[in-house]
Amino acid sequence: MTESIGSSGKGMKLHTKILLALVVGATAGILANTQLGGAAPSVVWVNKYVAGPVGQVFLRMLFMVVMPLVFSSIALGVAGLGDLKKIGRVGGKAIGYFLATTFLAASFGLIIVNVFKPGEGIPAEVKTQLMATYAQDASAKITAQQTGGFGIETFVNIVTRNPVKSAADGDMLGMIFFGLVFGAALTMLKPERAKPMLDVLEALQEVVIVIVGMAMKLAPYGVTGLIFGVTSRFGFALLEPLAGYVLVVLGALILHVAINLSLILRFIIGISPLVYFGRIRSALITAFSTSSSNATLPAALKASEFGLGVPPNIAGFVLPLGSTMCMNGTSIFEGITVIFLCQVFGIDLTLGGMIVVIVMSVITAVGAAGVPGGSIPLLVGILAMMGVPGEGIAIVLGVDRILDMSRTTVNVAGDISATVFVAKSEGLWDASMVPAASRAE
Ligand code: ASP
Repeated sequence: MTESIGSSGKGMKLHTKILLALVVGATAGILANTQLGGAAPSVVWVNKYVAGPVGQVFLRMLFMVVMPLVFSSIALGVAGLGDLKKIGRVGGKAIGYFLATTFLAASFGLIIVNVFKPGEGIPAEVKTQLMATYAQDASAKITAQQTGGFGIETFVNIVTRNPVKSAADGDMLGMIFFGLVFGAALTMLKPERAKPMLDVLEALQEVVIVIVGMAMKLAPYGVTGLIFGVTSRFGFALLEPLAGYVLVVLGALILHVAINLSLILRFIIGISPLVYFGRIRSALITAFSTSSSNATLPAALKASEFGLGVPPNIAGFVLPLGSTMCMNGTSIFEGITVIFLCQVFGIDLTLGGMIVVIVMSVITAVGAAGVPGGSIPLLVGILAMMGVPGEGIAIVLGVDRILDMSRTTVNVAGDISATVFVAKSEGLWDASMVPAASRAE
């Protein structure tokens, strides 16, 4: 699966169109709000018969594929690991490192967004109005933490009683659990027995990605409609928080690299962060310009082997796994986006709710495809699970391109660090093996 989610055909790039859609929709909406007033009959009519339906069709196309996508990507991911015993020590260390750093990243992002609270500047009555306007047409499910309970039953409920019901109810955790068990069970079959099911799952995943691509073709119109709907009702109230949100995501990504990853590099791996980032520069630039961990794989392999002196068998094993499983930047982005939109819509999260957000950010970052916008359909699922109305996605989608470029860069910086970590822990690498800069270029 190398297709980008939302790759566009000829002409203007899709992400440029979506950004333009945001600007056009927001400008038209603000004009309508300030000149005519949000409740003017003409504005209400446009929202009811044009902007609203167009936006809803786009959102529904995305929601339509969330559950099959979650199931197939998680089951395939687990099945793809093969016999866990066979992957052995090196694979275990790599996966441990992926999960630990992704978890650290998601928690770090959550702290930052809770400190800066970019979505909180909105007056309380606007929040109430936002929720009242959108709550009924949200595909939202009110989850356990909002109805008050977060306890042992939260965990027991993860073990879904009925996966079809979980899919119908938008129960992401239940679906993820079913996918995990299904993938693990597949690894226990004889290969020739497992193959037909793996083929079906692969085909399912590909079909879903194509459908997401179709939905993304509608995105420019959907985003215009949704943003018009929001801004014509609420005027400027949401634009300032949106700018704050972009800054918070970018800031958290930079700080994660400057603090967390640098500390790991210096003290756990034993390489100077400056040398490390200098040597992997071209891979980082590739990641930034392609927004795809998968597309960056060749550049990352080169950086790891020739720039840092990691043995090819370690880099060649760890990086392909890492480019789909290890997404530090994506987990930061997902956590911040969910909390930001909860703040915007005035959804209070308890500590338990925050923990759910961290866990879901990690799992969906692991499950997301390493292609541009790979995490968006999964993010849609978490938002619905937390009770955020679908319009929330439109609010953030218009600015996603720059965030995608930046989070992919952080993802790749993390992937390459995993190769050095594993090589070092296997006694196959130390800092003295980093080639002279002249040989690495
Ligand atoms: N574009 C990201 C990557 O390839 C995935 C995502 O967060 O959308 O790493």
